[in-house]
Amino acid sequence: MIMKNTAYIFGPVPSRRLGQSLGVSPIPEKTCNYNCIYCQLGRTNKMTNKRHSFFPLKEIMNELKTYMKEKVNFDVITIVGEGEPTLYADLGMLIDEIKTLTDKPVVVITNSALMSDEGVRDALYKADIVLPTMDAFDEESLKRINRPFGTIKFTEVLQGLIEFSHHYKGKMWVEIMLVAGFNDSDKQLAALKMQLEKLKFDRVYVNTPVRPPSESYAKKVSRETLEKANKMFSALSIENLTAGEFFSNDPDIIEAVLEIITRHPMKEDEIKEFIKRRNEDVEETFAKLRNSGKIDICEYEGEKTYRHKK
Ligand code: SF4
Repeated sequence: MIMKNTAYIFGPVPSRRLGQSLGVSPIPEKTCNYNCIYCQLGRTNKMTNKRHSFFPLKEIMNELKTYMKEKVNFDVITIVGEGEPTLYADLGMLIDEIKTLTDKPVVVITNSALMSDEGVRDALYKADIVLPTMDAFDEESLKRINRPFGTIKFTEVLQGLIEFSHHYKGKMWVEIMLVAGFNDSDKQLAALKMQLEKLKFDRVYVNTPVRPPSESYAKKVSRETLEKANKMFSALSIENLTAGEFFSNDPDIIEAVLEIITRHPMKEDEIKEFIKRRNEDVEETFAKLRNSGKIDICEYEGEKTYRHKK
């Protein structure tokens, strides 16, 4: 059976850190407690810090079960969403349920904002890999880069992250997004390093905006800065990792591309590669996509990126 238009499950999408990642999204579109200037999903329109059972766990699991019957190949299941997945109040139960279906690692990507919440930490302890983001080094930088929900305090986020890292038995891969002029000076990198020293983690990834950010002033840092940061943090550069292939089980090529770019903006080359692999005509498909009225094309760093129109 071919499933179309799944509500909660997407991919697998190629991830440079995780391989083929089957995504589970338990929260509504762009629901987040941050409004990061570099967010590739655009500005947060549903700003909240209240955890909620946005969708019934059973519905999500039913969809996942049906999806997995199709024997889709994937390396990990990633709970990620189009916002902050720890806002899903049943996150712990969701991880437990997924683990009854597969032995593949369950991953959670989080912005760390709710690490100060014991219930969130307890839920995350169940995951095999947690990728928390840590871009800020003080209250001011958190406000400038991540623009958090009003009550979120930098010191509490950091304390929660430290607490989590020292009790977690799985793998913790910290991600730092460097934005030019915001957290990339020598002094700021040194402050980030000092913070990292308080955490117990397995890997650090340094990243910089490579897809169109929500604010045009969120620019990527230079290669030299990336190399310097990688050295300072003993980090792995995401740039040097290669991504795999995009996947959709929708038989219609246009719908397939639209399904992927709803959750994951794609560069023009990535779409062309995807169309070619499905043995479809690249030019003709592109023309149909442009005429569908459903895509936004953004020019960023000399490259065209395609997103689903909101
Ligand atoms: S990058 Fe992540 S944490 Fe930041 S606004 Fe976007 S979805 Fe939220």
